[in-house]
Amino acid sequence: MVEFHRDEKNGVEIPKLGGKYTVLPIEYKRGSPKEEDWDRAQLCAQALCLEDMLCCEVKEGYLFYGETRRRSAVVFDSELRQKTENMTEEMHKYYRQKYTPKVKRTKACNACSLRNICLPVICGALTASQYIEETLRDEL
Ligand code: SF4
Repeated sequence: MVEFHRDEKNGVEIPKLGGKYTVLPIEYKRGSPKEEDWDRAQLCAQALCLEDMLCCEVKEGYLFYGETRRRSAVVFDSELRQKTENMTEEMHKYYRQKYTPKVKRTKACNACSLRNICLPVICGALTASQYIEETLRDEL
């Protein structure tokens, strides 16, 4: 979700809404806060996209966890921005190399919103092309 807070002094012009607003991305998660930076990096990536789309600076956002039912603030400092850019660069590198890293299923998978359609589970040991062939054969 993205919240727009009216702020004529420091906000960015949003023509559809009229006036200036600060932009606040909020990511909702089912589980609980993690020690690792995964969720913060995901939120930071969303902030970088919003900055690019709206030509503004997004200084912070929030993570909301279903288990704690609380928002926690995430400041997009230079360290988190750099980490997010490094992860993005690594993903682009894999994409260029047509390489899909192996997935390790962990406890965190229990709270994943994609667990019922998790491709590593659905596909099992199949390659992507085998999975497509098998699915098409079933369709026919
Ligand atoms: S997509 Fe699959 S492997 Fe990835 S976190 Fe979700 S359940 Fe786990």
